[in-house]
Order: sequence, then C-alpha cells, then structure tokens
Amino acid sequence: MHIVVVGAGLGGLTLSHALAKRGHTVDLIEKQPAVKSQLGAAIGLTGGLAVMRSLGLAREIDPYLTPMRSFKGSSLVGGGGAAEPEGKLTTSFGEAMIPEKAQFELPPILLDRRSSESRNYEMFHDEGGAAASDSQRRRTVHGISRTALSDDESGPSSEAFMAMITREHLHALLHRTLPLNVSLWLNCNVVHVEPFSYGGTSASVTLSDGTRLTGDLVVGADGIHSIVRRTVASDDADGRTLTTSQRRYTGISGVYGLVVKHTFELMMKCSLKKDEKAEALLESLPVGGLHEFEGKGAIATVFNLKRHYMFVFFEAREDPPTSDENWTNPAVQEEISSKIKAQGMPSLFEHLLRAAPDGGRVVHLGLYESEPMRTSWSRGRAVLLGDSAHATTPFLGQGANQAMLDAWSLAFHLPPANASDYICADDDDLHHHIQKALHRYETARSTHATNIKSVSRMFGHIRLGITSWDRCVRRCFMQTLLTCGRGCLFRQMLKWASQLNV
Ligand SMILES: Cc1cc2nc3c(=O)[nH]c(=O)nc-3n(C[C@H](O)[C@H](O)[C@H](O)COP(=O)(O)OP(=O)(O)OC[C@H]3O[C@@H](n4cnc5c(N)ncnc54)[C@H](O)[C@@H]3O)c2cc1C
Repeated sequence: MHIVVVGAGLGGLTLSHALAKRGHTVDLIEKQPAVKSQLGAAIGLTGGLAVMRSLGLAREIDPYLTPMRSFKGSSLVGGGGAAEPEGKLTTSFGEAMIPEKAQFELPPILLDRRSSESRNYEMFHDEGGAAASDSQRRRTVHGISRTALSDDESGPSSEAFMAMITREHLHALLHRTLPLNVSLWLNCNVVHVEPFSYGGTSASVTLSDGTRLTGDLVVGADGIHSIVRRTVASDDADGRTLTTSQRRYTGISGVYGLVVKHTFELMMKCSLKKDEKAEALLESLPVGGLHEFEGKGAIATVFNLKRHYMFVFFEAREDPPTSDENWTNPAVQEEISSKIKAQGMPSLFEHLLRAAPDGGRVVHLGLYESEPMRTSWSRGRAVLLGDSAHATTPFLGQGANQAMLDAWSLAFHLPPANASDYICADDDDLHHHIQKALHRYETARSTHATNIKSVSRMFGHIRLGITSWDRCVRRCFMQTLLTCGRGCLFRQMLKWASQLNV
C-alpha cells in the first residue's frame, strides 16, 4: 500500500518506520523546514522504548538513554520571603528505587526479524483472512515477543523500566534511520484533506502550493492543531456539523529546561559566591535520579541525565503564556525566576535557569489537552494518531509514548504491503481489510488513551494542589505511590500506562 503520513513528529516518524517494515511505501509530510523537536526537553520512554526495540532500533538508541533509577519527592515548608527565600526541605514523600533490571513485559513486537512479513500477518488470520480470536492472538503475540527478546543484545533499552532521552536525540535518531521506502517532504503544509478520493478507495491531501498527494490511506499525525482531525471529526454520525475547538487549556503552565552539564559545572565553578546547598542537592542526585519539590500550587523537578540536567517547573495559572512571553525575552526570564523564588524552591533551579540558554534550551508554555473525540478516529481512508486524537497533560509522561504505541498498533493492524497477493482477492476485499484494520486499531487504542488522559489530568490536579487540604492529599498520595512495596505501586502505574492491547 501507499500511505501518506501528515506530520513528522514522534508519532509520524515512528509510524513511517513501522509501515516501511511492513513493506509499505510512505510519503511523510512535514510543514517545518527540518525534522526537529520544537518543544520540551527530554522524554521518559516506557512503552515507547519497547516500540523502538520492536522496530529494531535498540542498538541505535542505547547510547542516548539514561535509565531511570530513583524518584524522590520533597515538600517545602515556608520560604519565598526576602529573609528566607528558600523553603525548608522535608523529604516527606520518600524515594522509590527503580531496580536496574526492571523491564516490564514488552508489548508484542511488530515483526519477528527472522520471519517474513506475510508469515507474521498470517499468524493473526486464518487462510480466508478472518482474524484469530482475541485470546488466540494474544497468545501468539506474546510468544513472538519473548522469542525476539531472548535474541537481543542487552543495553538500557532492553533492561530499563523507564529511560530518559532528549527530544532532540530521539527525533534525530528516528529521522536518520528512516528506511528508503519513506519519502520525506519538508516545508510542505497540508491545507486540505479529502478522505474519500476515487470512489472511497483512497484519500488525498493538498499542500499549500496546490500539490495533491494521494494514498491508500492518509494518517493524521499532525499534533494537537491537526488539520486531518478537522476533516475526520467534522460531523457526527448523524451528519451534524461539529464545531467545537480541538484543544483546551488546563490552567497549568510549564517551564521546561535542558542544561548541558559541562556548561553548568563551569558556571558553578566560576560563580563568585559558592552555593553549597545547590551543590549538595546535585550531589545527592545520582545519574538517572529524579527529585521533585512541592511548593504551593507549583512543582519543580530536576532530572540527572548522562550529559544534561533537565528541569521542569509547573504552576497553576489562569491564562496560558502567550508567544510574547518568549523565553529569550529577559523580562520573561526575570519573571519566571521570581516565580520560582516566590514558591520557595531551592536555589538550584535559579542556577539551572541561568545556565540553560547556553547550549541548552528553555520553553515556557501553557499545557493543553485535546477535547474528547466525539466521532470515530477514522473517516473514509483518513485516520488519526497520537496528539491529533488524544493530546494529554504531561503528568504521567505519556504523550509521546502513547503516540508511539498508536503508531505501532496501526501498522500492526493494517494488512502488509503484499496482502493483495495472498489475502485479498480484489480491491473490494482490500478495502474491507483496511476498514477492519482501522476499526481494530481504534478499539485497541482509544479506551486506554482516553483513560491515560483522565488519570494524567487527575494526577496533575493532585500534584499542583494549592490549599493545605490539597497538599495533604497530595502527600498521602505520593507517599503511598513511592513507598508502597518499595516503589512497586509506582512501577505498576507506569506499566499500566504503557500497556498495549492488541
Ligand atoms: C513541553 C512538552 C513536554 C513534553 N514532555 C513529554 C514527556 O516527557 N513524555 C512524553 O511521553 N510526552 C511528552 N510530551 C508530549 C509529547 O511531546 C507529544 O504527546 C508527542 O510529541 C505527540 O506526538 P505527535 O506525533 O502526535 O505530535 P507532534 O509531536 O506534535 O508532531 C506533529 C507534527 O506535525 C506537523 N504538522 C502539523 N500540522 C501540519 C500540517 N498541516 N502539515 C504538515 N505537517 C504538520 C508539526 O510540525 C509536527 O512536526 C510533551 C509535550 C510538551 C509540549
């Protein structure tokens, strides 16, 4: 099949890899002039790690990964005033250690590298092309996944429970390793989508310069502002036009920063005034360690990666930051810095903020989630994936992971490229298989992705609690999460988040 993928973000890139592995040809269209991450700092891969492995990219990704080893939570008492700007630290949430070899069960892999694509597809369908029963399928799938696992060399991707990678590295890796049957179209803005081309047997997109590209399927991996979603979800089953906006502001703003360690250490050394508290905090944070600090209606987190420090500052805020509030504007830098101070956060964050623009990066943005879909994820031969269908808040660290799992699932359910040779008698049959595949993909992914959105939203509210009652609930919640069964509950939560139903 020939498939047009709109958007070369993490979902679109992963999907292109997976489709190419199934033998399809892909047109991957990106409106930016380059494939690169525009937002955020680093990503904690859980399910996404398993997908990378399934795509055969374990060896490539390993050098960039920092496996997560510990999660520590502290609350701050007082602080924020001129006399005592820094709050007193109480490590009240405890610390979850994440054992070195703690990998959760991988979702089933896309292809057993030793078997042909057709064999893999046949495993899920009887000779007439009918799908195997759910239980049959699950058994087979887990069988494949284990066989492939034992083959692979060990590295962070095969051992880590969760591993961090900078967004830049992940994008660059997925871009660099794109297979030959993927054509990348940069600087091409899709302005129109037609889901029923050629009597409904294909779909097409129109670029801003008038170029029209047609495929057996168009996939909208174009993020929270998705143009494909506007077509797919334009009217409901009864033909009523749906005009609701696609996203909503969550009332939380976030500052994400990535600091090159080398730069930071140099800056701290050259600083006239030694800050022993900040140094002590960093010393107590091993590589792979995350430390979260709770203020009033705000949290700040620092993560120690191999070559970077990542920090995040979330704050409840009525209106989202605007583009005028660009980080490069010194007034904005000053404002954020004083907000962090007002929360009584450790001075370490101020140092990190100051060091970030030198070779690192900082973004300041409002957090949005997509409005729930009121229609199916697909219409005719157009289908949605990742943020275009279910953009979520970042409190479970699952946006990118879910987009990658969607990509895996969609490629898995579609018939392989040579399906017409042995599964589909004619075009009608192929059409029927594609429609069934889209339905199965949505069934496999939609409930879970929707649940992730709800849990992440709830988690965010608890974590950003403003009143003392909120903070009390938060403390109990985090304490239970981190200390119960020595972090077992925390691991279970991540495991649930990364599950993949097939
Ligand atoms: C600051 C921040 C931090 C985050 N941190 C994490 C984290 O730690 N862990 C995690 O799992 N998730 C995280 N996320 C969420 C994660 O980044 C997203 O969920 C994920 O990137 C979604 O992938 P996607 O491919 O669906 O969309 P996107 O990554 O948004 O990609 C969409 C792509 O489509 C392109 N595009 C859009 N419209 C068009 C068009 N008309 N024509 C052509 N191209 C188009 C865009 O340029 C873009 O490249 C974070 C998000 C943000 C904003």
